[in-house]
Amino acid sequence: MDKVNQLAEWIRESSRIVFFGGAGTSTESGIPDFRSAAGLYQEIGQRGYSPEEMLSRPFFDREPELFYEFYRSKMLYPDVQPNPVHELLAELEQQGKLQAIITQNIDGLHQKAGSHNVLELHGSVHRNYCMECKRQYTLSDVLAQSGVPRCPVDGGIIRPDVVLYGESLDGEVIDRAVAALMSADLLIIGGTSLTVYPAAGFITYFKGRHTVLMNASSTAHDRHADLLITDPMGQVMKKVQQLLAE
Ligand code: NAD
Repeated sequence: MDKVNQLAEWIRESSRIVFFGGAGTSTESGIPDFRSAAGLYQEIGQRGYSPEEMLSRPFFDREPELFYEFYRSKMLYPDVQPNPVHELLAELEQQGKLQAIITQNIDGLHQKAGSHNVLELHGSVHRNYCMECKRQYTLSDVLAQSGVPRCPVDGGIIRPDVVLYGESLDGEVIDRAVAALMSADLLIIGGTSLTVYPAAGFITYFKGRHTVLMNASSTAHDRHADLLITDPMGQVMKKVQQLLAE
């Protein structure tokens, strides 16, 4: 059996699938990842800042203008559309076969595709709040201003509800992610270099039958996978969708 058929077969047999994903999930929608050859890390490096520095909380506090210049041009993609990965996962949730998507992404594309149980380990560009009064703002509110967005009520800086380097993950999201992984029967990991911790460490809570790892480049977790797929995951999921429909 070839790899795509094997993946389709395991999806057919499973009823508590968990998908654990990263930036590679959205590259076929047009959002660059961080660590591919064409990824954002190369570009940030050329600016003279390390990625961890530029996307860190101290950098945000010290250089909000520079942070927002980068963030607006490289992290905000309000017009992109979900691709076959997001679409198939939404379908599987609707069929009652997928219990959770755990994502490191902040782009909101899983929700745009129709998924509901999306555990966003690193937050979302769609939620923003004033650092003074905590009023909530949408992505459209942020896009309506230029430079560092300010709260119209008290002038406080509006920040995205994303986890910057040096900040902690939300405890409730972690608990839900761990619970989903512990009760899952199939784990599909996709589009993540598995280098960002603590997020990458959560996959060790999975105790189910099969682990599928879909990633274009190798990861430290490859040897633990029952099935390793390196083809572009959007194309793979499109084929899986066709096989499941047969
Ligand atoms: P990463 O950039 O470190 O790794 C992405 C991995 O996906 C790479 O190993 C790459 O080979 C693989 N990949 C890329 N396109 C692929 C495709 N079409 N098919 C299969 N594999 C593909 O990303 P990460 O592990 O998620 O860590 C980066 C951090 O950056 C995350 O914490 C995330 O919050 C953030 N980020 C988010 C977005 C987003 O929301 N879309 C984009 C960039 C970065």
